[in-house]
Amino acid sequence: MKFNPNNLVRDNIVRLEPYSSARSEFSGTAGVWLDANESPFNDPYNRYPDPLQKELKAQISKIKGVDASSIFLGNGSDECIDLVYRVFCTPGTDNVVSIAPSYGMYEVCADINDVQFRKVMLNDNFSLDFSKLAAACNAHTKAVWICSPNNPTGNAFATASLLDFCRNFNGIVVIDEAYIDFSSKGTTLAHLAQTPNLIVLQTFSKAWGSAGVRLGMAFASPEIISIFNKVKYPYNVNLLTQRYALNLVTKASEIKQWVSTILAERDYMVNALGKIAVVQRIYPSDANFILVKVDDADVLYDYLKSCGIIVRNRNRVEKCLCCLRITIGNHDENVQLVNAINDYAK
Ligand SMILES: *Cc1c(COP(=O)(O)O)cnc(C)c1O
Repeated sequence: MKFNPNNLVRDNIVRLEPYSSARSEFSGTAGVWLDANESPFNDPYNRYPDPLQKELKAQISKIKGVDASSIFLGNGSDECIDLVYRVFCTPGTDNVVSIAPSYGMYEVCADINDVQFRKVMLNDNFSLDFSKLAAACNAHTKAVWICSPNNPTGNAFATASLLDFCRNFNGIVVIDEAYIDFSSKGTTLAHLAQTPNLIVLQTFSKAWGSAGVRLGMAFASPEIISIFNKVKYPYNVNLLTQRYALNLVTKASEIKQWVSTILAERDYMVNALGKIAVVQRIYPSDANFILVKVDDADVLYDYLKSCGIIVRNRNRVEKCLCCLRITIGNHDENVQLVNAINDYAK
């Protein structure tokens, strides 16, 4: 049977008559705009932004090799995550399944939307048993969350296994590729057209260096994208963000340079930290951070804090006992961190 996302959508969303904004009822060119109660002063900020970000999507479409009709832009990936719940999951009835440990927002959004959140623990080496993932699903499972490369473990899962799982699951599979630009494993984006139940999340917050701008991307079938467009806030991506991103996407080669610098710095960190006695283990990373197992994570965390260096303490996260998650910074920052841990180890 052909996969139809509309069969998974909440009844109230299927019936929803979306808000029709002034800018979506007329989006052509005109000299006089008196339709949206905007101010005539303060050009260009007086005007509501394009609700569907067409100009920006056209550029992202070229970079990603994905048709604009398969692109949704949100106020960070966090908006896209929340939309998955609001579109597909009936509160109090439906559930989602997620790998664990993983990004905390999947569970927070589930809790906010009153949707049961089922966790499937990764193996001790952070590999994923896809059959366990399938076994955790039932008739009310609307979506499965797989973060790859995964936060906070840093590893990516094989594309073939991910696509295999999509083919065998009759709900939505969300693959969060926030860190994909740092990974040796490829994006699943190339398989989007053949995988109608797949939603791929990417973001401008990591490799693109623009966490402060708040711009996330969801890639999916045009059918899924239209449902997202129906439910989102009309002007969810503001004018400043759209303009900023339009300029940023012209600098793809500069961004590539940032990524390769971060990858070289990641090698430096792995190498330098690996020589310090209190460091028990550095997990392999496909991301711009490393997960590091140390003798006493809480004490080291406090020590680094006293040196003015903040890392993420994951000591209380299941499967990450004694672990700190350390973001790769610039060379000077990385050297400071290595020196501080060296001093602590003495
Ligand atoms: C950082 C991160 C994001 C990015 O979220 P934004 O809202 O786009 O800033 C998404 N997913 C994961 C797993 C992350 O670690």
